[in-house]
Amino acid sequence: MAVAQAVVLWRGVQLVLMGQATPGDLLVFFTYLKVAFKPMRQLAKYTGQIAKAIASGERIIDLLEKVPDVRDSKGAQIAPAFRGDICCENVTFAYGSYDSSQSALRGLSFHAQPGEQIAIVGPSGGGKSTLVSLLLRFYDPIEGGVRIDGHDIREYTLASLRQQISIVLQDSVLFSASVRDNIAYGALGGKAKKITDEQIEAAARLANAHEFITQLADGYETILGERGSTLSGGQRQRIAIARAAIRNAPIVILDEPTTGLDSVSEAAVSEALNRLTQNKTTFWISHNLRTVQQADKMLYIEQGRILERGTHTELMRRGDRYAKLYRLQAKATEYPQPYLLNPA
Ligand code: ADP
Repeated sequence: MAVAQAVVLWRGVQLVLMGQATPGDLLVFFTYLKVAFKPMRQLAKYTGQIAKAIASGERIIDLLEKVPDVRDSKGAQIAPAFRGDICCENVTFAYGSYDSSQSALRGLSFHAQPGEQIAIVGPSGGGKSTLVSLLLRFYDPIEGGVRIDGHDIREYTLASLRQQISIVLQDSVLFSASVRDNIAYGALGGKAKKITDEQIEAAARLANAHEFITQLADGYETILGERGSTLSGGQRQRIAIARAAIRNAPIVILDEPTTGLDSVSEAAVSEALNRLTQNKTTFWISHNLRTVQQADKMLYIEQGRILERGTHTELMRRGDRYAKLYRLQAKATEYPQPYLLNPA
């Protein structure tokens, strides 16, 4: 650009000296030249971004065209309202091709009564997330099956199964929409638009979120940043809990929902979770054993197998893996009070 300008200036000055152009002509020409170059310079700047956008667009098309591994079975029915009795029978599952030495879950069985609180604990890579993925039918077992209220979940449509399960993950996904819409989104199946302000507020109160929401610039109408970036981690989790509460599903899955929060936020989120899971069959994955020690039942999963099961007290008395891990964590962290899961 600088070279081009120098050449134009040199030739322009020559023309002025020869009397073939006035200094005014040169000035106007020079100004137009600069104006014309600007968009060209910007275009060059954006070509990199345009190439990236095209690549992303192709990736989106690939994803949209991907046929999901799990689909509605032939003759799948709309699930009736669940009571929440869940039975996992001899479930084996492997990612990719089946190889018994590589299985993520190996002949796993358990029974959860309606309203029971089940903590899923154990070392990383043991199979905890895989187990809850099977409840949601993100994958189907290679052997065995999952039954809800006595029926194999493959009998039901995916949508009607998943509508009856609420999920709160470690890093909940919020949208760049109003707080209200982010909460109402929990009520799937076209019901989101019919949710009243009272229902939104009740869910937010249950989730310990009403107070901070009313302090936001536009209250429930405040538009959140991309992925909820304008809120703290604890606030995002409380909106996610309000969203789960609106769904009022009989089954709740919690996957490390308090991990990464400071102790004050963790207490507020734990309290909200206790309310959310009241009388719901709950599966709470946690690496922090203190958080879930009041659960009705612990499943200690390692290498795809349930190696220990029972209440916290029973497993401590047993003095094996769970007890060792608990003592190790108790030494490393010092909480004055354990968080309660649905205290009586
Ligand atoms: P946890 O939740 O207890 O940390 P996971 O269920 O995530 O354990 O993982 C169980 C096993 O399955 C691990 O060996 C892990 O590497 C493997 N695994 C998990 N997700 C995938 C995946 N999407 N593809 C392939 N292997 C996976």
